[in-house]
Amino acid sequence: MSGPSLRHECGVFGVIDDVDAARTCFLGIQALQHRGQEGAGIVTREGDALRVHKGPGRVHEVFDDGALRGLPGSAAIGHVRYGTAGGSAPSNVQPFVVVTRDGPVAVAHNGNLTNAAVLRAETEERGAVYTSTSDTEVILHLFAGSEQRTVINRLVDALRRLEGAFCVVMLIGQRLVAVRDPWGFRPLVVGRRGDAWIVASETAAIDAVRGEVVREVEPGELVVIEDGAVESIRPFGRQPRKACIFEYVYFARPDSTLFGYDVYGARVRMGEVLARAFPAKADVVVGVPSGGEPAALGYARASGLPFAHGLVRNPGVGRTFLDPSARSREGGVRQKLAAVSGVVRGQRVVVVDDSIVRGTTSQAIVRMLREAGAREVHLRISSPPMTGPCFYGIDTPDRDQLVAARMDVPRIRALLDADSLAYLSVELLREALGMAGPGTCDACFTGDYPLQPAVPGATAQVPLFGPAPGAGAE
Ligand code: AMP
Repeated sequence: MSGPSLRHECGVFGVIDDVDAARTCFLGIQALQHRGQEGAGIVTREGDALRVHKGPGRVHEVFDDGALRGLPGSAAIGHVRYGTAGGSAPSNVQPFVVVTRDGPVAVAHNGNLTNAAVLRAETEERGAVYTSTSDTEVILHLFAGSEQRTVINRLVDALRRLEGAFCVVMLIGQRLVAVRDPWGFRPLVVGRRGDAWIVASETAAIDAVRGEVVREVEPGELVVIEDGAVESIRPFGRQPRKACIFEYVYFARPDSTLFGYDVYGARVRMGEVLARAFPAKADVVVGVPSGGEPAALGYARASGLPFAHGLVRNPGVGRTFLDPSARSREGGVRQKLAAVSGVVRGQRVVVVDDSIVRGTTSQAIVRMLREAGAREVHLRISSPPMTGPCFYGIDTPDRDQLVAARMDVPRIRALLDADSLAYLSVELLREALGMAGPGTCDACFTGDYPLQPAVPGATAQVPLFGPAPGAGAE
């Protein structure tokens, strides 16, 4: 493989026909900050010129008033980036801007191409040079190298080569272009505000700029917005829909509507279902801030137990998830969260979180609750055991770091030192979502991968992993 393929867990935003596109885009990507905190960027178009400002860090660290004033224009695209270790080099911060025979082009991408390495090797063989390790650049090379005659046909030609998860926004000529892969792994929506058209990873970003949500970009749809007109093109063959179930569990904002369903309501229902399936003899229900809180509320409602803020978040500390060393990750959890002894002392506590990945967070939380005086700690997880990595844009560690890939529920309970532990099963999760199973991708929980990563020169596909020790309670 020529250079690591990055996992992107990102957010994209685009706006056209707006009085101050940079400022709208700034607000939009700030509302998507939870989708990526390693880098942020905005490209604006004024006349035929593109201007870019981007850098590592959070949106408010990258942009100030001066930076936004330096980005004039009525069209913009923006990006927030969350790559894995090694992928945080400044050269990987998006959007990318290149000059092609079609003039300057800007692109921003959320997702993960499963055939990026193959396409990269193929384009490199034809002489392409890369300035980053990001698979997004592959799209640009395919586009620039296409022999089709029109710009849109060149783009279609490039997009048809892609496999995996991709939500892409682009500025090409006077157009704003948005495309969603035919499986529809990641969300992408269209909105309006006055004369302006908006595209965004989540509806919450359209709300943040006081726009109205119009509809989803459909899986397999290429939307081209130019001169106030919206054209819809279907460049791909039909594929089974594979909306990411983990967006509901953890990733999307609770105030977003995702694939047509309300995220907050879905999380509360997950907690209700969890309470009915796995009750606990306890005094109080506590959620792990902030991802676990809606499910904790649902658990409390369905069980009749009181909900209380037994864990609070220190707002001054950023994410700990990507911290490379396990010990500092646990330290990071303690920096980020604290137990409220006034709530938990002497109590039998049900603590609800959305997921267990490596187990670091849950282990630290059980310990913190006990140190704060909790008599018993019953851990409830509003998703199934995570047994496999994601190849479609969620940043999960390798399989050997996933605690549920290595042990069954009784052993995880013992490792975490909880009095009891239960996860939602995949069936109960689907029940809570009210969704038909085949419409979603749940590979991280089931091992049922809709697409497999391809590597250059390989005749067989990379072997993937079946489901490991199952769901249940202990
Ligand atoms: P861990 O400590 O590795 O078990 O991670 C579990 C915690 O990280 C839970 O509190 C989740 O809310 C959160 N989490 C789960 N998936 C992700 C992700 N892809 N990125 C960041 N945080 C996550």
